[in-house]
Amino acid sequence: MVARKDFDGTERPTWCRGCGNHAILNGIKMALAEHDIAPHEILIVTGIGCGSKLPHYMKVNGYHTLHGRTLAVATGARLANHGLRVMTVHGDGDGYGEGLSHFLNAVRRNLNITDVVQDNRIYGLTKGQYSPTSERGKHTPTSPEGSIDGPVQPLAMAITAGATFVSRGYSGELRHLAWLIGEALKHPGYALVDVLQPCVTFNRSYAYDFYNERVYRLEDEEGYDPTDRTAAWEKAHEWGERIPIGIFYRGEPIPTYEEQVPALRAGPLVKQPLEPEWIRRMEAIKQKYV
Ligand code: SF4
Repeated sequence: MVARKDFDGTERPTWCRGCGNHAILNGIKMALAEHDIAPHEILIVTGIGCGSKLPHYMKVNGYHTLHGRTLAVATGARLANHGLRVMTVHGDGDGYGEGLSHFLNAVRRNLNITDVVQDNRIYGLTKGQYSPTSERGKHTPTSPEGSIDGPVQPLAMAITAGATFVSRGYSGELRHLAWLIGEALKHPGYALVDVLQPCVTFNRSYAYDFYNERVYRLEDEEGYDPTDRTAAWEKAHEWGERIPIGIFYRGEPIPTYEEQVPALRAGPLVKQPLEPEWIRRMEAIKQKYV
């Protein structure tokens, strides 16, 4: 039986006091323990950002990679060893800015990856520049007269690109967040958990009091059906006096990329011989035509 403390690392988080990343770290540990996933059975890939230091604070297989390349590295890991569970944890800048094309491609390929995005609507690590999810008109050091860009809509983009599990959590609701991450881990295929996460140092307009007054759970919304893709897409745009969290869309699972790649039919690449039959066949074809 796996316990939450089994994931405790030896380093203490250096995040600011009150940062939403503390709850996300705890939520991931809780979800892994609840689903009996042992530290050696999971790889957590992160990008660059305050929250991407997360694998340093956990006992798991961790890979702290390049900015915006989190999902690209996770894709390689899944293809090399699809016996290993893979979770990505990165910020809104890493996931929806520098990594936007990887986000859309991971969704449409449907790799079996649990994608947790620490969405604080700012670049925290570099001291507060506007990010892809910042609101239009945001005043920051890089937008002193207000940002001109409108915010991306990650949940709507994921639904449009074909994701079959799309959700949003809030770091101020830890139990609910742990439950969401667990549901995403259970889902076969790409699963998004966008997490509203206050950056208490550089984005005070989206602090806990802002979210606490507005956030509500879709599970408590009478008549909301998470299998209705059109309703989910519309709900993904709700932002203002009320902000929904929960499972926006849960569709029927579809075949994952890993299930369809011919080279992976004989099992994970790491368990196949260095020169499997398909490489020999490719060499024979090359000899014939080149
Ligand atoms: Fe968290 Fe913001 Fe501090 Fe970074 S700067 S650790 S995101 S509160």
